[in-house]
Amino acid sequence: MSVSVFDKNHASYERSSPIRTAEILCVGTELLLGDIVNTNAAYLSRRLAGLGISVYHQTVIGDHPDRLRAALEDAFSGHGRPKADLVILSGGLGPTYDDLTKETVASFFGRSMQLHEESLTRIRAYFDRMGRVMAPSNEKQAMMPDGAVVFPNDYGTAPALAVGDGTRTAILLPGPPAELEPIFDEQAVPFLRQFTEGVLISRNVHIMGMGESDVEARLHDVMVNSTNPTLAPYCQAGEVRLRVTARAEDADTALAMCDEMIETIQRTDIAPYIYGIDVENMETALVRNLTDRGLTVACAESCTGGMIGERITAVPGASQVFLGGCITYTNDIKIKLLGVDPALIDAHTEVSAEVAAAMADGARRALGSDVAIATTGYAGPGGGTEQNPVGTVYIGVATAKGASAVRVNYSARKSREYIRRAASSQAMKLALTEVLSGTNQK
Ligand code: ATP
Ligand code: MG
Repeated sequence: MSVSVFDKNHASYERSSPIRTAEILCVGTELLLGDIVNTNAAYLSRRLAGLGISVYHQTVIGDHPDRLRAALEDAFSGHGRPKADLVILSGGLGPTYDDLTKETVASFFGRSMQLHEESLTRIRAYFDRMGRVMAPSNEKQAMMPDGAVVFPNDYGTAPALAVGDGTRTAILLPGPPAELEPIFDEQAVPFLRQFTEGVLISRNVHIMGMGESDVEARLHDVMVNSTNPTLAPYCQAGEVRLRVTARAEDADTALAMCDEMIETIQRTDIAPYIYGIDVENMETALVRNLTDRGLTVACAESCTGGMIGERITAVPGASQVFLGGCITYTNDIKIKLLGVDPALIDAHTEVSAEVAAAMADGARRALGSDVAIATTGYAGPGGGTEQNPVGTVYIGVATAKGASAVRVNYSARKSREYIRRAASSQAMKLALTEVLSGTNQK
């Protein structure tokens, strides 16, 4: 058996059955000790779902060959879980004595190791590029099990590889995420596509301003009865995300199935609360829609203390639409910077709809934006009044038409961080609603 380099146009590895199930096996004592977080498992799980491969089990094992071998046996034989057609291993491909993954997998499949000249040349070239001298121990990284398909590593030294037989495939990837992720996407994905059946596609509907149970109540029957596409809700700081997942022969069919389900959702009274489909987050949705319409936004923040500005400026391209913001925490500054009328504060207190609207209006005037948003509220844990307990936030919005404010209530049991984050999302949602309503069209 010979070792070959992966070639998209030529399958040098054969399977007698398709790949439907996978197990992720992460190797590293550091993971067991909690020294590093297992981001590779999360990454690989997400990618495998996209390929339509079901992951029923993730395992973490220390740098220990006997336990690794036992874990491989369990995964492929289906001991205590569905049998895996594919095991993806991460870590332990390094040059040192404790990096044993490749040798253990080779012995599991009864394969001997041989030097793969092409890999050795690439590793040498990598060290040359870095201006470093290759240690003799790095030669170990060019040793490959008989019959392996090599995925060259352009991001580090350890090549990745696939090895196995007609029904069991193992893919071995280097541990560092900066190497594992691109190698997986660029080489392991096309490799795996040769053996998968159909595709799995997910689309996400983002909802804000309606609670999870209300969303669920409106879609309960669809959620329970649909198997393809499936519909599942996920809750995040004051938001609900509905994930629609379809499995089909090809991507176009799966997408069309997702779209049909999305239309069903849009026909319910959830529709006005949907702020985006497949958007990364609220700030991205806001920046995109402002950009499309050539509009600008500014903010005045009290209880969110800069979080709105922080989140908007995290979106690439925000400079086209975000003019700036004021953190106006004390009443004095609300008056000085935003021109809020002190009489308004005296009459209604600083946590009121009147002051929120005046702050937004003041920010819009001071900064000269098309839309401005403002927050004032009690993020807790202390503070609050009888009428406005902890968790009450007033959000102001101002446009050329005028200024107004809404009151939102988060549970006083939520953390300060949660309330500030949810309020900043809600403020951006309000700006987005104004933008989408088109009344700001220049
Ligand atoms: P190296 O050549 O760097 O030794 P390796 O393939 O042998 O690579 P490990 O030694 O197991 O991999 O891990 C190297 C580094 O990669 C770890 O210190 C850690 O930073 C990162 N890493 C390893 N496994 C994971 C994981 N499951 N999730 C996230 N990061 C990981
Ligand atoms: Mg290592």
